[in-house]
Amino acid sequence: MPSIDLQTPIPGPRSKQLAARRAQAVPRGVSQLTPVFVSRSQGAVIEDVDGNRFLDFAGGIGCLNAGHSNPGVVAALHAQADRFLHTCFMVTPYESYVRLAEKLNALAPGGTPKKTLLLNSGAEAVENAIKIARAFTRRPAVICFEDAFHGRTLLTLSLTSKTHPYKAGFEPFASDIYRVPYAYCHHCSYSLTYPECKLHCAAHLEDTFQRVVAAESVAAIIVEPVLGEGGFVVPPAGWLSAVAEICRKHGILLIADEVQTGFGRTGKMFAIEHEPLEPDLLLTAKSLGGGLPLAAVTGKAEIMDYTVPGALGGTFGGNPLACEAALAAIEAIENGGLCARAVQLGKLFRNRALSWRQRFPIRDVRGLGAMQACELADAESTKALVKYCYEHGLILVTAGTYGNVIRILMPLVVTDDQMHEALDVMAAGLTVATIDRAKVGVA
Ligand code: PLP
Repeated sequence: MPSIDLQTPIPGPRSKQLAARRAQAVPRGVSQLTPVFVSRSQGAVIEDVDGNRFLDFAGGIGCLNAGHSNPGVVAALHAQADRFLHTCFMVTPYESYVRLAEKLNALAPGGTPKKTLLLNSGAEAVENAIKIARAFTRRPAVICFEDAFHGRTLLTLSLTSKTHPYKAGFEPFASDIYRVPYAYCHHCSYSLTYPECKLHCAAHLEDTFQRVVAAESVAAIIVEPVLGEGGFVVPPAGWLSAVAEICRKHGILLIADEVQTGFGRTGKMFAIEHEPLEPDLLLTAKSLGGGLPLAAVTGKAEIMDYTVPGALGGTFGGNPLACEAALAAIEAIENGGLCARAVQLGKLFRNRALSWRQRFPIRDVRGLGAMQACELADAESTKALVKYCYEHGLILVTAGTYGNVIRILMPLVVTDDQMHEALDVMAAGLTVATIDRAKVGVA
């Protein structure tokens, strides 16, 4: 039986009414990628307020690897809700924060003893990691990458690459931030000068230390092991290790931003595990909380312990409901074999997407595990495809600095039948979106 079930044209009448109220009450700066309002969700399916059922391949932008309303997460939340909701861990602590920190310390790659700080959002994790790195190294500068996304707060926006809609108009940004090219092979900046790839994009850091910022001024290099918002760009094997080696040589901390890549999405618990290296600080959020707002900085104990009591934290960081949800979500990912499942799902997508390349103007199919994407010719056809898809029961989100990438972030509990159903919609959408954009009402 298909999962998609549409009872009304999309959006339906109740969603339209809510959209009108939203327009009056919510600033337009908060985008709305899909015109339907949710009533309930389960697994990989969302039902809207008009009774329409959609397959959700956005997963709350990568927050639901363990599935919508994962039964273990929901049970843990009910049990915690009956006990207490909030005390502030800094005032009267509770066990679940400690248990989750122990779990993340054990999961983080590398043999060095670890400690974990809990926060509320990915941006907060990035902010705190930079604070910790600057305090520990007593150096000011941070190096980040082109096409990176690290959040929307002032410091994280300074580290984020894309100008429109994220940065333009919000200047001035934080100082001592330097941006270098990522290993984006499809748009390689070095291929003309160096036709043979010898990871020149990593070696280029040494040149940056000569021409832009002294190595001894750099506290940290922050990197997404696979670019998320930047378009699901997977660097070539060895690149992250080369960057890590350059960091080690110069006493620079390596911060792995796994906010989007973490918790099984790429086929391993953390994407950084695809290379034999140990980051100094590992940042997680999104799927960590199983649907609740939660983030973590997990790092080498010596670095994490450097700051004095009171220097780190926040009123709601590591809220007890979020901690219980996270423990249950991690258990679901581990016991449900969702890392291995991510590999299967990625192959399934890739096989279909590669066959589409023969018929449609798809520039690139790429990804790691279930973090897969297609780069299309332009933002217009990508928008048209997303519109066709939600009008036919599939929720998708775009990515890429140029808005021309379709990415999949479905819950990893999606079934094979649901995958094929979703990919059928995508294939039909490609026919319309890349050939006859007018038909789907996109100018
Ligand atoms: N870092 C990465 C890699 C992200 O993908 C995101 C969000 O998409 C963030 C940081 C910011 O996370 P949040 O939106 O929870 O602040």
